[in-house]
Amino acid sequence: MAANKNLLVLAGDGIGPEVMSQVRRVVEWMDKRRAVRFDVTEDLVGGAALDVHGVPLAEATLERAKAADAVLLGAVGGPKWDDLPFEKKPERGLLALRKEMELYANLRPAICFEALVEASTLKPEVVAGLDIMIVRELTGGTYFGEPRGIFDLPNGERKGVNTQVYTTHEIRRVAAVAFELARKRGHRVCSSEKANVMESGVLWREEVTKLHGEAYGDVELSHMYADNCGMQLVRAPKQFDVIVTDNLFGDMLSDVAAMLTGSLGMLPSASLGDPDETGRRKALYEPVHGSAPDIAGDGKANPIAALMSFAMCLRYSFDLGDDADLIEAAVKAVLGSGIRTGDIMATGAKLVSTQEMGDALLAELDKRAA
Ligand code: NAD
Repeated sequence: MAANKNLLVLAGDGIGPEVMSQVRRVVEWMDKRRAVRFDVTEDLVGGAALDVHGVPLAEATLERAKAADAVLLGAVGGPKWDDLPFEKKPERGLLALRKEMELYANLRPAICFEALVEASTLKPEVVAGLDIMIVRELTGGTYFGEPRGIFDLPNGERKGVNTQVYTTHEIRRVAAVAFELARKRGHRVCSSEKANVMESGVLWREEVTKLHGEAYGDVELSHMYADNCGMQLVRAPKQFDVIVTDNLFGDMLSDVAAMLTGSLGMLPSASLGDPDETGRRKALYEPVHGSAPDIAGDGKANPIAALMSFAMCLRYSFDLGDDADLIEAAVKAVLGSGIRTGDIMATGAKLVSTQEMGDALLAELDKRAA
């Protein structure tokens, strides 16, 4: 029998614990009803960790995260910790996790559910059936490059500096993730940079093209300047299958793609590191949204983004595509039946709480697995 899957749950702050408690119910359901077994450990991150340990990510928590088969995170941050210095803020806990686990590939799917077509600001025909995946490089580029800082100039002015820098290795490993994903989807990758004005973009394009020639001839590769990519995402998003891009452009393009689909409460993500000798990748799964202090504690949070993140975990960490499909089908059916949390509420739909959305999803799972 296969070994149990080791999950570390870091619920975090604000609505994090609320949405993660619904995910925990589905994990337990899977544990009882499907072939896979989970060992779940819980720990603190963000403000919750600061309050107990004085740091947003304790050393022991980091070690647990590195040892786990996958980490499920809720959200971090909130007004209580807003005045702390930058290095103590709850968000540092999340950044430290990504950095220390070397999670260099950030996967952000943008899927438009039939029932939510009207929630998009774009015309229904532009977004109906949309299913694209943005792979953003997460540990390099402008956000980490040196030199960086704010410097005083002799003439009394100041200069702010960040550096866009990528090595061959950094480009190839994230491009490989995109090509591998495309093989399991529509077999198309669009690589996006600004090779027209940036040397790092020229190198990016050359290395992606080289890797494609070496190992991924079965996948169609195209290139697009990042500014055009932003326009095309809004004009005709269904032309894309997988988009791979750097940290800075990926930050923006993934948010643009996300908004094609409606609400923040629906958007999952995965961050992956290198596979070890057994093929296991370090991995963190989290909803795209933050801790939503404006609704925290009110039972209004939509748990679907967190649940879809767990579905990504089943698919990408455990190769349990059927179980991931089951969760996604349950989400579609519940939305199709008109059950909605406030963030995706529509005329004529039934407004439910976080817990009631969890109830509806579990009932749907029961029905499908009967
Ligand atoms: P946010 O994503 O927390 O909230 C933005 C808006 O979307 C709010 O009106 C909120 O009520 C709504 N919303 C978000 N998720 C929702 C859900 N699941 N269901 C229903 N409505 C939802 O972004 P923000 O307000 O800019 O940030 C709040 C805090 O979260 C800050 O401290 C910020 O630093 C932190 N943050 C954390 C993460 C993370 O943990 N990955 C990401 C973004 C922001």
